[in-house]
Amino acid sequence: MYFPSWLSQLYRGLSRPIRRTTQPIWGSLYRSLLQSSQRRIPEFSSFVVRTNTCGELRSSHLGQEVTLCGWIQYRRQNTFLVLRDFDGLVQVIIPQDESAASVKKILCEAPVESVVQVSGTVISRPAGQENPKMPTGEIEIKVKTAELLNACKKLPFEIKNFVKKTEALRLQYRYLDLRSFQMQYNLRLRSQMVMKMREYLCNLHGFVDIETPTLFKRTPGGAKEFLVPSREPGKFYSLPQSPQQFKQLLMVGGLDRYFQVARCYRDEGSRPDRQPEFTQIDIEMSFVDQTGIQSLIEGLLQYSWPNDKDPVVVPFPTMTFAEVLATYGTDKPDTRFGMKIIDISDVFRNTEIGFLQDALSKPHGTVKAICIPEGACSLLGKLRLECADLLETRGVVLRDPTLFSFLWVVDFPLFLPKEENPRELESAHHPFTAPHPSDIHLLYTEPKKARSQHYDLVLNGNEIGGGSIRIHNAELQRYILATLLKEDVKMLSHLLQALDYGAPPHGGIALGLDRLICLVTGSPSIRDVIAFPKSFRGHDLMSNTPDSVPPEELKPYHIRVSKPTDSKAERAH
Ligand code: ASP
Repeated sequence: MYFPSWLSQLYRGLSRPIRRTTQPIWGSLYRSLLQSSQRRIPEFSSFVVRTNTCGELRSSHLGQEVTLCGWIQYRRQNTFLVLRDFDGLVQVIIPQDESAASVKKILCEAPVESVVQVSGTVISRPAGQENPKMPTGEIEIKVKTAELLNACKKLPFEIKNFVKKTEALRLQYRYLDLRSFQMQYNLRLRSQMVMKMREYLCNLHGFVDIETPTLFKRTPGGAKEFLVPSREPGKFYSLPQSPQQFKQLLMVGGLDRYFQVARCYRDEGSRPDRQPEFTQIDIEMSFVDQTGIQSLIEGLLQYSWPNDKDPVVVPFPTMTFAEVLATYGTDKPDTRFGMKIIDISDVFRNTEIGFLQDALSKPHGTVKAICIPEGACSLLGKLRLECADLLETRGVVLRDPTLFSFLWVVDFPLFLPKEENPRELESAHHPFTAPHPSDIHLLYTEPKKARSQHYDLVLNGNEIGGGSIRIHNAELQRYILATLLKEDVKMLSHLLQALDYGAPPHGGIALGLDRLICLVTGSPSIRDVIAFPKSFRGHDLMSNTPDSVPPEELKPYHIRVSKPTDSKAERAH
């Protein structure tokens, strides 16, 4: 009796509707973003010295006394300036009369991008001087007082021209880059989508948001992990590549429905769609099958999708791994356009091809082909994308930029040949993935042929999520790790033990949040949707990280650095 009432009370409390506030005016993209996704209007000027934001003022504010804080975007002929905050731009008239000489001095002398506070009256612009391109274009501010809150030195680049600057410069001055409209939009849209995801998972479907450790131990297989030295000689932590083991252990612990906006770490080179540290929407459920996870994710994306984009249509189509490889030459096909790979082997086998004969009958005519042993589909897949790029540079629109084409890819093989030694096996997803129920017998005869219960979610040719139904039987897990993958099971003894103590059947998925937001915002790189990303080479160019550490600080960790140049020098002696 005690448990259900405690639980329902908790949830009633958590899902109590938040007080509605009213704010009659909308203008900037951010406002419409908030309006569309939250259907509640937040109070932007509570607790602070301003009365309004720059971007919110309209004719309905005429005559109001306002206090605004913002950055000087530009100034024209010492007569007016444009003030900017996160919400938009507003025109401020610099007073010219003698009595306001000190206000004029502040506003005329403060360099562009200085931050100022102004108070004054909202007035209408003189007839004919309205600016229909500006949401605040019907009004301007007649300033009475002004204060320079902080002056700005000469900038390394103009904020509005930030995209034209090199990415290295943008990353070096990231705090300035963040002032740009595009970065503001991307980060705010990301925040809104995550908020909606939390709402959907916790309030609508009873998930529990649980943090898991980021100091952990090495996991066999999978991506390279970052190591963190400990004070015990020769012992290291690892930064987890995902909370995979913890989320499974939470299921053993009866938490039943877990989710986390989880920071993950992989020590792999950066690519346009990868970062050494990145964020996943990490999910795990007990007593679920593949279709349950798929429906949950379809609902999650539909619920959190920004309303200014075309709505997400569910259910998403599904193709098997074998089908996508044969049709698109890749396991993450861009299904926004056709140009599928067609198997014409039968045509060659059964008919005489006229154009081949024609070609051959011409003087010096030959027909040549390249045979790619055991290849042909993934290369064709690349060729398909190259052709699409080429056609698009010539003006053929193949991939509608407003279209979001989702696809589930299922029935992956459980194992793939190891890249460095094709005679050994590695997990196609990770070693905790359950085999396909109809292929379990193959594990003991032809493991290479066994399919798995692994599913990937693909959006416009990008893998944005992946997961699986897990092995919850300790014996099967031990067999796969030790016998098939030749891993050291001692490293996973905690997990194997847990599976032996009544682990429920469970499964889950992780969505790559950075990649997803990158696609939703149409950004060229995931770095454009992360506030402080690492450079292509994994460096933080703003703070110069990673950085060296003096030898005495390394002593407690029993570590000595031998730089490549030192060992060269040693060899030379
Ligand atoms: N942990 C997996 C990954 O990061 C996702 C999952 O299987 O849930 O890819």
